[in-house]
Amino acid sequence: MTALPRGLSARARSWLRPELGELAAYQVTAAGDRIKLDAMENPYGWPEELIPAWQERLAAIPLNRYPDGSGTRLREALVATLGLPDDLGLLLGNGSDELIQLLVQAVARPGHKVLAPEPTFVMYRHLARANGLDFVGVPLGPDFDLDREAMVAACRREQPALVFLAWPNNPTGNLFDPSAVRAVIDAAPGLVVMDEAYEPFAQASYAAVPREHDHVLVLRTLSKLGLAGLRLGYLMGAPGLVTELDKLRLPYNINALSEATAVFALEHYGMLAGQAERIRTDRESLAERLAAVPGVERVWPSAANFLLFQVQSGSAQAVHAGLAERGVLIKNLSGSHPQLADCLRVTVGQPAENEAFLEALGATLRDGP
Ligand SMILES: *Cc1c(COP(=O)(O)O)cnc(C)c1O
Repeated sequence: MTALPRGLSARARSWLRPELGELAAYQVTAAGDRIKLDAMENPYGWPEELIPAWQERLAAIPLNRYPDGSGTRLREALVATLGLPDDLGLLLGNGSDELIQLLVQAVARPGHKVLAPEPTFVMYRHLARANGLDFVGVPLGPDFDLDREAMVAACRREQPALVFLAWPNNPTGNLFDPSAVRAVIDAAPGLVVMDEAYEPFAQASYAAVPREHDHVLVLRTLSKLGLAGLRLGYLMGAPGLVTELDKLRLPYNINALSEATAVFALEHYGMLAGQAERIRTDRESLAERLAAVPGVERVWPSAANFLLFQVQSGSAQAVHAGLAERGVLIKNLSGSHPQLADCLRVTVGQPAENEAFLEALGATLRDGP
């Protein structure tokens, strides 16, 4: 374990949790006026004519009052609009990140472990370590699918309190083979969280599974659908389990402006769904054209709103810099995990943004950064 930094006061060094020494705060790169294709945001805003009605809704909120602590209106809107199972418990979070933190806190006891395949969403490891739990990362197999035998063996050996499966997985974009997922659900001794952050682009879900397997929870977010700025995630699971988890939720964790905006946005869900459909279509053509760019070695199939691709050995950082120089920000993953060597991730943008990305990439690979 890396120790806390030397520059820290002796008092802080002796009282802070030692795990903090090994962690780094979540890094966000400022995009400036570059085309922003680094964070899986929906690139489409709302049509002009929707804005006044939304502002009116916000203007009517009494900001001197606490929000509706139970989020009843928003919960009803989510269930009705998204067709969520109405016999499951539903927990709202300030982003699904907050719910991941809450899940980790719920199992945080000495000796308990959190397990996930890797490479995957970095917050599983980060929040497990931040809460003093051991994290077990099981390498993904060929084509980034689950290594079924390794996952099942790790579940038996490590006895994890919590298993996270991102489905589709971030940053690889694929849906794990459902029969391997089922093997993990059967082998896990504790809770299994299906993280469906990219469900709007995958159109496949485990939302009905907690009914038959009450140790399975399904996590979703409105961020990737088009409301990243709101910070709204939700967790579905067996009602009794969700009642216990709800005890860890801070009062009023969803602010009144977010709640009202989410209800408003769900009234216009057709617009968001249409944007997701457009992104799914554009993803396929972007994948095809990306694979044809000279110097791009590989593009992996994606069920999400981003593509993972590989460039020539040792060139990812230069490609990332060359794109930034030419006004396009994507994510360089090379160096973050051995299986992601020479890999970069690009979010599907508006058609003109995808065009600009392909052009900048072609120029970078041809002329250098
Ligand atoms: C983006 C992402 C999240 C976090 O989403 P927020 O709701 O914005 O906190 C969770 N899980 C995965 C796999 C993600 O990619």
